[in-house]
Amino acid sequence: MLHDKYCKKDTNPIYPAFCESYPEAPLPKYELPPDPIPAAAAARLIRDELMDEGNARLNLATFCQTFMEKDATDLMSETLAKNSIDKSEYPRTAELENRCVNIIARLWHTSESENFIGTSTEGSSEACMLCGLAMKFRWKKRTPDWRTRTPNLVISSGYQVCWEKFCRYWDVELRAIPMSRRCRRLPVQKALEACDANTIGIVGILGITYTGEYDEIALLDAEVSKYNQTSATPIFIHVDAASGGFFAPFVEPELVWDFRLKNVVSINASGHKYGLVYPGVGWAIWRDRQFLPEELIFRVSYLGGSVETMALNFSRSASQIIGQYYNFLRFGRSGYERIHRNTLRAAAYVADRLDEMGRFDLLNRGERLPVLCFTQKETSARWSLYDLSDRLRMRGWLVPTYPLPPSLEECVVQRFVFRADFGAHLAEELTEDIARAVEELDSAAVGSRVKKNLRYGFTH
Ligand SMILES: *Cc1c(COP(=O)(O)O)cnc(C)c1O
Repeated sequence: MLHDKYCKKDTNPIYPAFCESYPEAPLPKYELPPDPIPAAAAARLIRDELMDEGNARLNLATFCQTFMEKDATDLMSETLAKNSIDKSEYPRTAELENRCVNIIARLWHTSESENFIGTSTEGSSEACMLCGLAMKFRWKKRTPDWRTRTPNLVISSGYQVCWEKFCRYWDVELRAIPMSRRCRRLPVQKALEACDANTIGIVGILGITYTGEYDEIALLDAEVSKYNQTSATPIFIHVDAASGGFFAPFVEPELVWDFRLKNVVSINASGHKYGLVYPGVGWAIWRDRQFLPEELIFRVSYLGGSVETMALNFSRSASQIIGQYYNFLRFGRSGYERIHRNTLRAAAYVADRLDEMGRFDLLNRGERLPVLCFTQKETSARWSLYDLSDRLRMRGWLVPTYPLPPSLEECVVQRFVFRADFGAHLAEELTEDIARAVEELDSAAVGSRVKKNLRYGFTH
């Protein structure tokens, strides 16, 4: 039986028409074809299939990088065959990863009197799992009767889905503290009230996925310090800086959110968000080795040599790590700052135009992370933000409209995530397209006009 979108039969095979030397027989899509076809034919068929889906640069839904320089992509394709886990075989690649770990640890102000440790990962999800596991293992160590207890993790309801996964996979209770209309970030007092002896840690988010806003990590740290003075069991902070970790250090170096805060013990970030690398790389850093329990460090010897690894995953191409190192070397601190300021400028331009239209309330004007998040002013309008998304899609823009998480779900927002490849010309195009779409939607009331016309038709 064919029951869902995964299980399919070949009722409509591929008949290659334009390939120079194409196979006579149609090619099945859901079964392995019996024989080879020419490389050019295969590449052509696949390109044709992919050509009509979204244009990555116009995808304002994603935080993930959609542009890298040609030298970077050349370098990355030259190194696709290197497996990042084979650290003995590719010691120079391992050295580049280690340089990245050092660069990032210092960017986040680790103390020279501590011994930081860190690793690359597939992305922030894997990094969050590792940091979450480190918190859970530390809790087990300080809780002799842990077997009879249920550990919990405290985070705002604006968490990214990876934390829900972490909690479900590893039997941790997710204590999501609802954000409020006035405070769309972690309510610090309530977070501490939710803590008890089974709390493995509190997660602060630098760049809430829903809105792009930052949790107040310094305030959280101060409150955690107070809590720890009187509590028998200390609380530690992990910062999920998936998007902010490679943004704030360059444009807001004075913002204290990182290892300068003494209760922040681990931080993750996505290299493929504002680290400016194509998808497939994240980073996890612990301020000191004592915060990464030994049980999470594995020594692999059968590939030759004995090398420490901490990863959930094993094999993975090293090319993304190499791409990350390329960016660090190529842009340096001021290069990152310049690129990010440029993106902020584009975000500010769009925010101003949205204000001028007078139809939207901006929850986030993109002054910290270049993310705009807004609601519609008139709830009685005949069209909704969902309609605006559809309308913009006709011009190629991919912009999501969605409700905020539980406790704020009545608030439907539209969000634009701007990235390095979103320049002034695109900002102009986008705002023109929005203005046009709003005009069309206002006048279109297409449905109601048709109905009116019909009624006139009947009365005449
Ligand atoms: C994107 C994101 C993640 C997941 O990151 P990936 O790199 O896509 O795995 C986790 N947390 C936050 C806050 C994010 O924005």
